[in-house]
Order: sequence, then structure tokens, then C-alpha cells
Amino acid sequence: ASRKIINFSPGPAKIPEQVLERAQKELLSYQNTGISVMEMSHRSADFVKIISHAENTLRELLHIPDDYQVLFLPGGGSGQFAGIAMNLMGLKESRCADYVITGTWSAKAAKEAEKYGKVHLVFPKRDKYHDIPDMSTWKLNPDASYVHYCANETVHGVEFEFIPETNGVPLVCDMSSNILSRPVDISKFGVIYAGAQKNIGCAGVTLVIIRQDLIGYDMPECPSILSYKVQAGNNSVYNTPPTYSIYIMGLVFDWLVEQGGCEAMAKRNLEKVKLLYDLIDASKGFYHAPVHHTCRSRMNTHLRISSADGAVDEKLEKEFIDEAAKKGMIQLKGHRSIGGLRISLYNAINVDEVRTLIDFMREFQEKHQ
Ligand code: PMP
Repeated sequence: ASRKIINFSPGPAKIPEQVLERAQKELLSYQNTGISVMEMSHRSADFVKIISHAENTLRELLHIPDDYQVLFLPGGGSGQFAGIAMNLMGLKESRCADYVITGTWSAKAAKEAEKYGKVHLVFPKRDKYHDIPDMSTWKLNPDASYVHYCANETVHGVEFEFIPETNGVPLVCDMSSNILSRPVDISKFGVIYAGAQKNIGCAGVTLVIIRQDLIGYDMPECPSILSYKVQAGNNSVYNTPPTYSIYIMGLVFDWLVEQGGCEAMAKRNLEKVKLLYDLIDASKGFYHAPVHHTCRSRMNTHLRISSADGAVDEKLEKEFIDEAAKKGMIQLKGHRSIGGLRISLYNAINVDEVRTLIDFMREFQEKHQ
């Protein structure tokens, strides 16, 4: 089987070869059980071991404090847009939550939450998502049930370099596209959630890390499968969970431990993204990253290519994408809502793969500038 392709997809994204190879080895018969993990009862001792191992490894990787519960839920990041609101709006009588909107995904989260309570934007909606307004300008509501933000906006490539201070109001964070890419102080958060298909494994399972005291406020209409109380009370196996996705997630966590954990990932991710931004910044405007340097993402970079007159050149962008694909570098197209290019450098992408891309980008520039 050939793995000569370099997959820069924003998600579902590249999974480390070592993980896929191990999954392949165990595909027909998981550790002498004679059956595949896919065929295993979610209540069997073998699967309980798989899910506990995944949880324990994650706890080790993120240094999750004991008063936090780890849940593996269905429904993706979008499921949690509703799940967060249904479970947490009731934390205060206000039934009102603060939303920080810095891109497509936090905007979607706010829109979904409106179905279940009041949503207050801490700053007005912006035309373009190129920066994060200074916290001194935010209007936080001290009576809010929670404050929601997205640590890394996957479409625009806007990433927080700081953790917002909410003066005791529980902080809820969508970390779908940068979880495990660097160390994070879990104790600063009420809830962290993340879909698996970027830095965690394959689609189907959503990680929720929640401080214990925030569990138990779900609204009566909340579906049991999304209720933190029900799921926490059943160790995430209230019903049949996405068993295979949970297994793959555990393998990715093992791989991360072998690699040196979040600390090593942070170092490597910084090295990778520096290669990219150094090239962009030295390109004399040929490559242009619209996001302000204070919130440039380490995971997703949105890029435009300009022709000599300085205007965005969509034809050249298309040529870039097509030529890169011919050389085995795929999924470089920007999100359909904003066009251009998008380069995603999640944990599984290694430094050599970034160098290959950078070399191509340099050649492409020399040919066309
Ligand atoms: N949040 C972020 C930051 C995302 O990037 C995405 C998907 N790309 C989502 C939420 C939605 O995730 P899902 O498709 O799993 O619902």
C-alpha cells in the first residue's frame, strides 16, 4: 500500500502511520480475541479496557485534574454546540450565555445555543475574522451561565494565544482543531470539547472534559445521549458508543505519549508553522496570510496568492492546488466560504512533510512572481 500522499486536510485529517499500522495488525483479531474491535460488545471486558485505557492516557497527556470527568460522546463538535447549551444554560437563573465569536465555528455554536437560552455576544459580530479584539473591550456578563469561545477557528486560522479571564464564570472551549497540540491548563476551564477527526483520530467520537460540579444542570428536554449527567453516570456507555473511533483515539493517545506528549508536540508544531510563516513573510506579498500575527493559528493557515499588481489571483490559486496535488500534496483548498488556500498542520504532519510543501511553494513563487 502506498502512503506517498501528504494530506494537509483540515479534517478528517492525517492519522499517524504507526497508528494505522497497528490498527491494521489488530483489524481481524484484536489481541488474540479472534474478533475485531468493531465486532466487540461495548460492555465486554475487552472494550471496557480499551475505553479506560484511552481515558487514562488522555488524563496523563493533558494532566487532567481528578475533579474533571472525561466523556466520549456522539454527535461531533456540532452535537456539542447544542449539548453545551442544553447542559449548561441552567447553571444560572439568567439562562443566558456569553459567546465570543472569532470565526465560522464559534458563530455556529452561538446560533445553535439560541435554541436553548439567551445568547449574548461579548463583542459585536465582525465582517472579517482576522483578529481577536483586545479583552479590555469585551463586555462580559457577570450573570452569564458560561462563556463560550473557540480556541482555534479551523476555517479562518484564528487561534487564541491566551485563555480568557472570566472572573469565575465557567469557561467553555471548543478545542476541536487544536487539542493536544500543546500543553494546556485544564483547571482554567469549565468544559473543553473536541471532535476527534483532526488531532484525536477518526470521526465519530467527541471528547468532553468537564469539571464535576458543572454536571447535573441539563434541561429536561436534553436527549439522554447528550446529557452529561446521564453519560457521566454510565461511563460514556449509556448506549452503544462509537466503539471503533474510541479504539483509534486510544491508539493516537499512545502514539502521542511515545512522541513525548503535548510538550513535544508544541515544540514540533512551532517548528513546522515557523517554516511556513517565514516563507510567507519573505514572499514579498506573493503569499498573503490575512490573519493578524498575534492570533495566527499553528494548526490551520488561510492563504491568498496575489499576482504582480497585488490583487488576489484565483487562477493562480487554482493552479497551485492542482500542481501540488500532482506532486501528492492534497487538500490545500481554502474553505468554500472564503476561498484561497488552507494549510492544516495537525500533530500527525511531520517536519519533513512541511519541508516538502515549503520547497514546492518556493518553486511555485519563483515560477510565477
Ligand atoms: N468546531 C470546530 C473548531 C471545527 O473545526 C469543526 C469542524 N471542522 C466543528 C466544530 C464541527 O465539528 P463536527 O463536524 O464534528 O460537527
